[in-house]
This record gives sequence, C-alpha cells and structure tokens, in this order.
Amino acid sequence: MNIPITNPIKIVVKHVGDVHIHTFISSYEGDNIANATHIIESKNELVLIDGQFLKPYAQKFRAYADSLKKPIARLYLSHRHPDHWFGLGDAFSDVEIYTLPETIEFLKEHGEASREDHMGKLGDLAPDKVVIPQHAVSPGVEFIDGVQYVIERVIDTEIDYGITLKLPEFGVFIAQDLIYSGTHLYLTKYLDHWMEQFEDMLTSDYEVFLPGHGAPADKKEVTENLKYLIAAKQAIDDGLKNQEFKQFMLQKFPTRQCPAIFDIYLPRLFDGASEY
Ligand SMILES: [Zn+2]
Repeated sequence: MNIPITNPIKIVVKHVGDVHIHTFISSYEGDNIANATHIIESKNELVLIDGQFLKPYAQKFRAYADSLKKPIARLYLSHRHPDHWFGLGDAFSDVEIYTLPETIEFLKEHGEASREDHMGKLGDLAPDKVVIPQHAVSPGVEFIDGVQYVIERVIDTEIDYGITLKLPEFGVFIAQDLIYSGTHLYLTKYLDHWMEQFEDMLTSDYEVFLPGHGAPADKKEVTENLKYLIAAKQAIDDGLKNQEFKQFMLQKFPTRQCPAIFDIYLPRLFDGASEY
C-alpha cells in the first residue's frame, strides 16, 4: 500500500468561553483516509473522540492533546472499525476509554485477529498491541467538567453499532463515521437507515458536524453525504457492483478525496468478505 506519512491538519473548530473544540486530521495522501479525531477542551480537562488509525498519527494526536497541558478525563471510541481504535494501542493505553458494550465485546473477540491481519499491509504503522476499552457507555446525558454531552447509540448505518455525541450548548454534533466530509464514504448494506440519520441532522438545530474522516462539516456537506447515498443506492439497485460501481461513483463524485476506501469496503459489500 502507498501510505505516505505527512503533516496532520489541526483545526480549532469552535471557541466559546472556556471551551475549545479541536479537530485533528491525518493525511489525505496516497491510500490514507483522512481520519478525523477530536478534543473537547474545557476549563480543567480534555475529552477525546477516537484514537486515530496509524501509529505516527496516533502519537501526533496524543502529542497535540498533551500540548494543551490538561489531563485527559476520558476518550470515547465511536465504533469498532480499526481506523478508529488501532491508535489506542500506540498512544492511549493509559487513558480511560468509553464505548458501547457491543464494541468492547467485538474488540475482545476479534481485536487481536484484526491487528494481525493488518500487520501484513501496514507493517510498523499498525499498533503493537490491542487496548480494550474499560468502560461501557449507555445512551443518555453526561456532564464532564461543566460541559453537557448527549450520548446516543446509533445502529445500522456505516457500522452496526456506534455512538454519537452531541454538545447542545455549542450546536456541535460529533457524528464520526455517519459523515465523511469531502471524502468518499465507506458504504454498507444499511443505506436506508443511514439516510434517515442524515434527514434527522438536516432538520436539527445543530450547525457543526464533526466527521470521522475529513474536515468539520456543515449542513451543506451533510446534504452532499445524503446525495452520495441516494446515488449509491440507485446504482446498486441498477445492478452495478465492484469495479463498475467504483468507476460510477468516482465519475459521479469527482471532487471527493481518499478513493482508497473503495478497496476496503467493496469486497465486504458485494462479496461477503470478513468484516475485519
Ligand atoms: Zn472510519
């Protein structure tokens, strides 16, 4: 694989009072997929969202968090795809990690096999070990260092089980892989239910949508994501598969970045390949 390591992109998405919301994006180059992870910096501590994919970016994301000179209260893992949890083993093994019980179970059962499977492709960019999150979250409202988090369990979208976090005081919706901002989406068999999530976002009061890939998004980009799923569903209904499907989507959405995602999901979507 062609995986150049380049400078990450760091963005302060919002600053209100004592709260800064940061986004950290890994490379868009080559076969990279612009993994986006986030930090909610409040008066006394930090909450992190996801742990990056490749070792150098996990370490750089940790260094960025440490540069803020506040303790990490916790890290929320959004879902079980490796590009969100591999980096936990590289840079966050000392952090309290929270995720859904289904995600914890999956990592216990398949985490090591997934790591070993990726070693061949990623070499030393893969983690040396798997870190299993210690804490199961349930949906509801949490206050951490004075910031309100609304945690929701979302099923059958880009993944079977995942969480989103909303920060109603700031109009910020941490959607992770419900949104691919400016990049090609990882498609699954759950397109209809996923589209309903976009419809909810577009009619909500939230204005900023933090994605799992690419730059912070607005409702225009959520609309583009919805258009992408509508086109994909139509193409699948028309019988397109694999390379034909990929060529159709590349032509239809020529400005979206990170086409390497097709080769990750096409065998799973059309040929029943293993989920990890
Ligand atoms: Zn992802």
